[in-house]
Amino acid sequence: MPGFELFSDLERKEVNDVLDNGVLMRYGFDAMRKGHWKAKELETELATTFQSNHVQLVSSGTAAVSVALASAGVGAGDEVIMPTFTFVASFEAIMMLGAIPILVDVDDTLTLDPKAVEAAITLKTKAVMVVQMCGSMGNMDALSKICNENNLIFIEDACQAIGGTYKGKPLGSIADLGCFSFDFVKTITCGEGGAVVTNNKEYYINADHYSDHGHDHVGNDRGAETHPFLGYNFRISELHAAVGLAQVRRLPEFIAIQKRNYTIIRDALSKVPGVTFRRVPDGGEESYSFLNFFLPDTETALNVSKGFKENGVDVCWNYYENNWHYINKWNHLKDLKSLFPISKEVKKGLEYLKTKSFEQSDHFIGRNISCLIKLSWTEDEVRIRASKMAELIKAIN
Ligand SMILES: *Cc1c(COP(=O)(O)O)cnc(C)c1O
Repeated sequence: MPGFELFSDLERKEVNDVLDNGVLMRYGFDAMRKGHWKAKELETELATTFQSNHVQLVSSGTAAVSVALASAGVGAGDEVIMPTFTFVASFEAIMMLGAIPILVDVDDTLTLDPKAVEAAITLKTKAVMVVQMCGSMGNMDALSKICNENNLIFIEDACQAIGGTYKGKPLGSIADLGCFSFDFVKTITCGEGGAVVTNNKEYYINADHYSDHGHDHVGNDRGAETHPFLGYNFRISELHAAVGLAQVRRLPEFIAIQKRNYTIIRDALSKVPGVTFRRVPDGGEESYSFLNFFLPDTETALNVSKGFKENGVDVCWNYYENNWHYINKWNHLKDLKSLFPISKEVKKGLEYLKTKSFEQSDHFIGRNISCLIKLSWTEDEVRIRASKMAELIKAIN
């Protein structure tokens, strides 16, 4: 997945354009910048890539999720339904707004189970956030239908699935708002950065203002801009956007390499008894940033994960025991460890986490192995890795 593996003169050239004129800020300084507007240019390129009307760049993927929710009016006391398997950023972004993350089970797509979503809807539910984990996606038709029928905002976190599609549409462009991360380890990177993608003009304008202190960005005199509403600073810098600009132009090349590497490993593992693969919904095409497969039970999966590690097969994880990606280890959330007081409403809203068990999620995440697909591997290296993985699994299972 990481785009940083393939940095070249292309990234260097874009960054040098910015350093040559010295304007590291994405807004204003029109006279000094010699026509270079890297953030604006990247937004235009991303709008084409995601076949969407509007793109707002921000400082990170976490900021993108928070800005997307805020832009659609999600805030204090609102409930946002999200999966148990994701990156910690998902609940952080919700809680930043004083809203309440409602975690629900994943199914064999490794993201939201539509039945679990339906069961979790209350009068306080404002939004549903699907997280397109590890390069694939949820059942977007079923989830869209639930959101439409219940008048809920539908948010898509496609941070790990850039380049994937569902029924021909880019992941991240299907829900009301989509979120991307361009942090250091994502398929395309800016170093740090993120984007909110939408076809809804009002949400876009909200995102544009909110991520820059509420500035209305009318005219080209920042001093004369007014503040229609309160905002914060979630801006991206020109330097970061410049790196992303070179990277996004290489996305088709990156996806092709990921697909080649993924396919070699998948072909080898599909011949191994007991190995099955994560379900990709009908009409979906993965971004191939990860290969996810299941073993018959959690014990076997943990043994395989250990066997891989001991035998030099790196970048493969069983997320059941992972601090960052699965509810099992999120004690700081369950115990509400916070630097500052959390509102009574949020505290009460999160009480369910003390008692609720997520057996269905445990069933799928416990048996899953998730392997990162690197861009820098040569075809020979991938073949050697694939047969080593197959042999190790056969020996353990
Ligand atoms: C990386 C990631 C984020 C957060 O992105 P940052 O840019 O690191 O803040 C959010 N959601 C998912 C699924 C991610 O993988």
